[in-house]
Amino acid sequence: NRLWTLSLLFRLSRLATPGTGFVLLPVAPPAPTCSGGMTASAGLAAGERGSAAANGGTRTATASPFDCDDTISPMVKTVSPSKTLEVHALTQEMKARGERVVSLCVGEPDFQPPAAVIEATAAAAREGVTKYTGVTGTVDLRKAICADLARRKNLTYSAGDIVVANGAKQAVYQAVLAVVRPGDEVIISAPYWPSYPEMVRLAGGVPIIVETTVEEEFLLTAEKLRGALTDKTRMLIFCNPSNPTGAVHSKERCEELAAVLSEEGGKGSGCWVLADEIYERITYDTPHVAFATIPGMFERTMTVNGFSKSHAMTGYRLGYLAAPPIITKAVTIIQGQITSCASSISQAAGLVALAVSDEEMQASFDVMREKRDFVLKRLSEMPDLATAVPQGAFYVFPDVSAHFGKSAPDGTVIGGATDLCLYLLRAHSVALVTGDGFGYSKCIRISYAASMEEIDEALAEFDKCLCSFS
Ligand code: PMP
Repeated sequence: NRLWTLSLLFRLSRLATPGTGFVLLPVAPPAPTCSGGMTASAGLAAGERGSAAANGGTRTATASPFDCDDTISPMVKTVSPSKTLEVHALTQEMKARGERVVSLCVGEPDFQPPAAVIEATAAAAREGVTKYTGVTGTVDLRKAICADLARRKNLTYSAGDIVVANGAKQAVYQAVLAVVRPGDEVIISAPYWPSYPEMVRLAGGVPIIVETTVEEEFLLTAEKLRGALTDKTRMLIFCNPSNPTGAVHSKERCEELAAVLSEEGGKGSGCWVLADEIYERITYDTPHVAFATIPGMFERTMTVNGFSKSHAMTGYRLGYLAAPPIITKAVTIIQGQITSCASSISQAAGLVALAVSDEEMQASFDVMREKRDFVLKRLSEMPDLATAVPQGAFYVFPDVSAHFGKSAPDGTVIGGATDLCLYLLRAHSVALVTGDGFGYSKCIRISYAASMEEIDEALAEFDKCLCSFS
């Protein structure tokens, strides 16, 4: 009987709708109604709404696919689905119809991992390096990472300060989980890598978006950072070089930001810095400086890096966090419960990757520079674009907003960056990524990690497309 009663109460509680006062048991989370449903803006924490607006916040209303379903935890409903899906879905449809699409969308290098890495991968599998490793990774790999950070970045870590993860993405998320408490604010400059705000929300934190513009070369200024700091600020996520803009903050700029965080009586004293430096090896004229080397920052910086971009090892899922022991201890507990360790085979390959000579690595990066210069030249010849010169990574992020409101030859009105990308794909078979996905709706992202032929063809079509608008 007790069971029957419980079961009835459970079913009743699932029928109960918010606002009726008819809530019996805390069995299921309150179900959002389909009519009023939980929109993305309703999903924003109160602080986020105010602060994001104050900072020119860019979160657009994207409904969660679970709005009308109480099966899924409300936590998931606060996370935005990818805004690049529309273009991706159309690209897939066109390809399925046998149409050719030139894509400059990818976020991974077009070159292969070094030959020695591929050989080490096969050897590891053959030779039985196929078991779990310790949670934080093999000692050999962690020591090699420390040696690499010391040699190239002037950073002194010991093997105990390193947690090897399944990609830099996991390293970022675990670092966020380790320190961000419900209601804590995390400063993220826009345009941003789309996962940052979503990871902060998953941790219960509040992303505070600080917008930078093409005129500012997408660099965060001391003034904007100071303006975003509050008593609730827990972390600054600092992506340098940046995806999607390719912006590289110079040593001087990093020092200015660090000075704000260290200001006597300022609000930055409790602020951690998560320095995502996954693109640090791919830089052009502005040398990259590790944020943890800026005086006063080592003790409060969590450095994330990995092998995906530098060594073209995206599918190996290998990245790492280097941080003060209290952070690595916490992250080790988290990782131990959710993935145990990174792939043993990838770790063996990563060890060899770190031994590849700088000269061999540089050859691939030099090709990237040629492609960047080619893209910049072509963009400079196109109508009404504003482009900052990217100093790192393999992306250009032109401001296309001067074309908004124009009409395409078929009558399509280009209302924004997503419209432009969809039209470009439909009419010119070229796929680019809308800035909406990066919290910056005036721009589009062009990845030049593609062959010269593809870049040339895609940009010729992009030019034609822009010239056809009236
Ligand atoms: N940070 C940034 C800025 C990235 O662009 C990416 C990959 N797109 C990552 C982290 C994640 O890299 P990984 O493949 O090592 O998980």
